[in-house]
Amino acid sequence: MPTPHAVLEGVTRVYPGTGGRAPVQALGRIDLELRQGEFFSVVGPSGCGKSTLLEIVAGLQPLSEGRLTFEERPVNGQVPDGVGVVFQEDASFPWLTVRDNIAFGLRHSSVEPTEVRRRVEYALGLMGLRDFAGAYPAQLSGGMRQRVCIARTLVLQPRLILLDEPFGALDQQTRLLMGDELLRLWRETSATVLLITHALDEAAMLSDRVGVMSARPGRFLELVETGWPRERDSRIVERTGFAEITGRLWARLREESMKAMATDSA
Ligand code: ADP
Ligand code: MG
Repeated sequence: MPTPHAVLEGVTRVYPGTGGRAPVQALGRIDLELRQGEFFSVVGPSGCGKSTLLEIVAGLQPLSEGRLTFEERPVNGQVPDGVGVVFQEDASFPWLTVRDNIAFGLRHSSVEPTEVRRRVEYALGLMGLRDFAGAYPAQLSGGMRQRVCIARTLVLQPRLILLDEPFGALDQQTRLLMGDELLRLWRETSATVLLITHALDEAAMLSDRVGVMSARPGRFLELVETGWPRERDSRIVERTGFAEITGRLWARLREESMKAMATDSA
């Protein structure tokens, strides 16, 4: 059995009610072991607590109950050393060039300037941004800006990368190609990846395992093992087994999404 990298035991999250509003139980009971070096995706109906779960693993939100450890140490109150987060929205700094955006976090760390330069050049190459190093975010496409955000996290050399719907705003072709880049970076860095996505095909193509969440309060209904080889890319969508996996995910999710829709409109 591979070593668990992050472990959640009986984790729940209730947002306290404010301004006369009732408290919201966002997460039911989450028990999950993220394996060292695996690519794990989470799918679930909108509002089921996916972002809450990611923020908890990132140390950005408190747990209401349960226990969370990263590399066998309890996580509380801050992003643990070794964890990198990429958010959904484009979080690039418009006043900095691509190169300076990528270097930003590192320049505020204790890493030596020569090492900063080495890592930034490597990330520029890995994310296909070398020709745009001197450009500003406004001169880039949405997909490229998102690559800048991924590169900025990557240079911190996280051992666990958390991504919250990072390709949400991109068109289908770009999403698949970004998926390929993410797979390449996952292989080259040996990091563990936790990806939140609403796209079943993306989850099925990228992951070793996919966790399907219930409607709120979110908990895992099923963990689907894809069985894909580590060397893989978006061409995997042509495999016969691919439709089987997306079908299985959808079968699990369909009913839950209907439940979520019914509660939302109630
Ligand atoms: P998802 O990412 O799956 O769409 P979220 O984790 O963002 O879901 O939210 C889960 C539930 O918790 C939603 O019903 C949302 O409205 C609620 N929620 C999220 N953030 C807060 C907050 N800060 N205070 C109160 N409720 C919140
Ligand atoms: Mg979300």
